[in-house]
Amino acid sequence: MNIKDNLLKIAEKAEKELNEIFMDIDNTAFFNTSKVLSAFKTHRVTDAHFAGTTGYGYNDMGRDTLDKVYAAVFAAEAALVRTGFVSGTHAIAAALFAILNPGDTLLSLVGMPYDTIQTVIGVSGNEHGSLKHYGINFDFVDIDSSGRADLAEIKAKLSKLRPAAVLIQRSKGYSSRETLNIAEIESLCELVKKISPNTVVFVDNCYGEFTEEREPTEVGADIMAGSLIKNPGGGLATTGGYIVGKEELITKAGSRLTAPGIGAEGGASLGQNRLFYQGFFMAPHTTAQALKTAHLAAAIAEKTGFKTHPGSQSKRSDIIQCIELGAPDKIIKFCKGIQSGSPVDSFISPVPYLMPGYEDEVIMAAGTFIQGASIELSADAPMREPYSVFLQGALTYEAGKLGILNAFNEILEDEE
Ligand SMILES: *Cc1c(COP(=O)(O)O)cnc(C)c1O
Repeated sequence: MNIKDNLLKIAEKAEKELNEIFMDIDNTAFFNTSKVLSAFKTHRVTDAHFAGTTGYGYNDMGRDTLDKVYAAVFAAEAALVRTGFVSGTHAIAAALFAILNPGDTLLSLVGMPYDTIQTVIGVSGNEHGSLKHYGINFDFVDIDSSGRADLAEIKAKLSKLRPAAVLIQRSKGYSSRETLNIAEIESLCELVKKISPNTVVFVDNCYGEFTEEREPTEVGADIMAGSLIKNPGGGLATTGGYIVGKEELITKAGSRLTAPGIGAEGGASLGQNRLFYQGFFMAPHTTAQALKTAHLAAAIAEKTGFKTHPGSQSKRSDIIQCIELGAPDKIIKFCKGIQSGSPVDSFISPVPYLMPGYEDEVIMAAGTFIQGASIELSADAPMREPYSVFLQGALTYEAGKLGILNAFNEILEDEE
């Protein structure tokens, strides 16, 4: 890799400035590893759990025990951790259908949800099977001008609508708002329960797992969901998603995932159990690698004149780093750099295209072992103003660092 000398010097300086933050990240990983380890001990995880089932998948001990392990780590009553979830979007959709009935209203508390969730809701269009298709209403409270939750407006809408459920998306996704930290999620949960006690609080936890010491279900969320090819899969889970929360809601989500009557009791694990366990065991550490890579990318971006969200010194509650590159050609070059710095498909050049579920053209760099896994170093950018790239993941900090150096190397060539 032909990294320019001045870029290497910038990276060295950036790392020195991040020393304390890196120590904090290691401490969080240590704490979260102890949570995971004690759940493994409590539920007596053993070799036999790694064997999978076929066919109907009844009595899959490994699968059922893993549900209990997830529930314990996230301090929830029950969990569904399944190969049958295609992705995070699918798990979130199953959770939303578990908590909403025709005629109900879903209220998003922090602006428009993530692009693929908009399709699930039926924000635009009315796809067969969307919430809208089943007569479920949707409303949202926009974020305030500083990019944070608009508490006054949330209070007003909660009192007026008394929605059956609220959606709180922890991570900013592809928007320019701030990611919610756990303390903010805690305040939002308290606010909802105070004004409208029967409203179910759902949290889209994608990208947030293990970035802090507490999770949304520990601070008042009734149910939350996420993707196994992000943080909790630890880079080893081959596919899947999870939902954790109140038992009654998880049972309903099981009916939606499989079929009423089968619920959580069916669904073959097809030999994936060991990878799910091992991935969950690795997840606090892997998340720490991704967090450090995000901080380093922000620090290098700031030193080379780009705006960052969040800033390199800001504490995180997700693994996403947004860098405002300002021009479509810079986005393409940056993504090319990430791709060519990856272990898999390093010879491919990513190009923008229209993906199912997304509103604008998107470019994605992902030279990953698991297709599309964004706990592995990857960069995505919707091709729209202000031309920001969203960077996330890294299975190891070393490879993450090399990947971002390669990306900045591409961009900085412009300016000389
Ligand atoms: C990734 C993501 C999703 C969807 O997850 P997929 O696994 O890509 O389907 C939903 N919400 C947020 C905030 C995400 O980051």
